[in-house]
Amino acid sequence: MGIEATLPHDSMMTTQFNRLVNWARRSSVWPLPFATACCGIELMATACSRFDLARFGAEVMRFSPRQADLLIVAGRIGIKSMPVLQRIYMQMAEPKWVISMGACASTGGVFDTYAVVQGVDQYIPVDVYVPGCPPRPEMLIEGIMAIQRIIDNDNIPKDQAGKRLPLNVVVQPNYDPANQPVDVSIGAT
Ligand code: SF4
Repeated sequence: MGIEATLPHDSMMTTQFNRLVNWARRSSVWPLPFATACCGIELMATACSRFDLARFGAEVMRFSPRQADLLIVAGRIGIKSMPVLQRIYMQMAEPKWVISMGACASTGGVFDTYAVVQGVDQYIPVDVYVPGCPPRPEMLIEGIMAIQRIIDNDNIPKDQAGKRLPLNVVVQPNYDPANQPVDVSIGAT
């Protein structure tokens, strides 16, 4: 959109092949939402017009693991549903990424019971932890951008045997809440 108008028709560009692949990958992250509870609503809000995840090329939610490279776990995970989550993770093709969104996914949150997994990283490798109950959409976007920065630099961490290591990035809750753009006070005239 516009770049072909500013460049001469017979121009050419040189780059490294892996830079081109990384650029394409980070510009088209396809998330798989594993949303089980209230954090899923914030995940939906992230894709809506006010926050517009499409600005970062990551709005194409896929519900097949074969078509997704970013697993977003949003909400509490029961012991009984953990095998489903593991299977979905294993069915995703490499390179793949995992975001643990919210206190419940990362630690079990307030649900300190035998039926709730006390942190999905006990079962699948988590790359980015997004804290909060629920996290705001800006924080989820920050988590996705952290993964995009890693993809851009192509520094996927691996151990000596070539096994993929989780990134262990934690998003810091450092945003300043902005005022509502529209007055929502009840009874305003
Ligand atoms: S972290 Fe809070 S908002 Fe998210 S699923 Fe748990 S209780 Fe709901």
